[in-house]
Amino acid sequence: MGRSLLDAPHLFAFTPEALSAWAGEQGVAVRLDEARRVLSEVISDPEERVSRRPVKKSTREFLLTHTSQERLEVVERAVDPSDQFVKYLFRSPDGALTEAVRIPLHKPCHFTVCLSSQVGCAMGCVFCATGRLGFSRNLETWEMISAFKIVRDEAHRAGLGRVSGAVFMGQGEPLHNYDQVIQTARVLSHPCGGRIDARNITISTVGLVPQIRRFAEERHPYKLIVSLTSAIEEKRKGLLPVAGRFSLDELGAAIRSYAAVARGRITLAWVLMRGVNHGQEEVLALKERFGDLPLRINLIDINDAGDLGYSRVSPAELKEFLDRLQVLGVPIVRRYSGGKEKHAACGMLAATLSDASKDPSGTPALA
Ligand code: SF4
Repeated sequence: MGRSLLDAPHLFAFTPEALSAWAGEQGVAVRLDEARRVLSEVISDPEERVSRRPVKKSTREFLLTHTSQERLEVVERAVDPSDQFVKYLFRSPDGALTEAVRIPLHKPCHFTVCLSSQVGCAMGCVFCATGRLGFSRNLETWEMISAFKIVRDEAHRAGLGRVSGAVFMGQGEPLHNYDQVIQTARVLSHPCGGRIDARNITISTVGLVPQIRRFAEERHPYKLIVSLTSAIEEKRKGLLPVAGRFSLDELGAAIRSYAAVARGRITLAWVLMRGVNHGQEEVLALKERFGDLPLRINLIDINDAGDLGYSRVSPAELKEFLDRLQVLGVPIVRRYSGGKEKHAACGMLAATLSDASKDPSGTPALA
């Protein structure tokens, strides 16, 4: 597959249009159809077969010797026997460790892959193990594509089926790594890239207001999910430090700017924590702030396997909260909670694991 050049652009980070343009800047003419064929070979095809319409030898050599084709190393795979979720631990060339999860969907033989966007996370959500680790660095597009490819290609080779979705809900706040995540989504959804329907790509955020506005302005076709978790200003600030930077008024305005261009309902995620955010006051605050929007609420169990000091609501408390939420008149989606102990590295990741396994749409909620 050619030699690896760590300081060269990575082939996985390109769409054909960008690859052809980049080659032109290097003084080498690479036609769009040639770029398409090379990227289809290395990204789209799980078996990386050479195209039936071969690319000119000199063009192929230029592309493979002037770009990197580095891959992540798989350090570990952990299969949860109860639900067949597979968690991957990867190592980057600099030693950074990240995760991805293959999640079975309701549709037989279909999976989605949960991708990390950063090494660690700067958001510091108090209920999340990753938040307590702090931030190391952003993941690059090629690292996210490499993670996707490894998960997808292994499912293909094992004859299990097709990875037909991707969610950015692993470690990190995706919109804190905006450019790389959006470029990854572009490559994932490109016919010569990951071949994932753009509507099956979901990006989550804990509420970075400028980036939500930018996402809305740029009118990306991917889904955005906003983690609210509390509609009460002071409580939310205590749970999600990002709420200290952006008030609920500002977040609400940004969500409305997204709602104005989005298709379908706006999903708000709510990480349920016992004794914290399932009271009547939360429902009233939610109704007052967002009751006019076409919402969908994703309720997610907190991962209480660790020692973060938060625990799951009881079945009775959950029922009471669900009853209260009926006043909103919007779909409430309760997420399955299995498999968390097995995959309890990150509050968000664990929530995602539980989410997609019960969602026939294949669109998990975020934490
Ligand atoms: S929940 Fe998500 S955004 Fe919050 S600290 Fe954890 S990884 Fe970061």
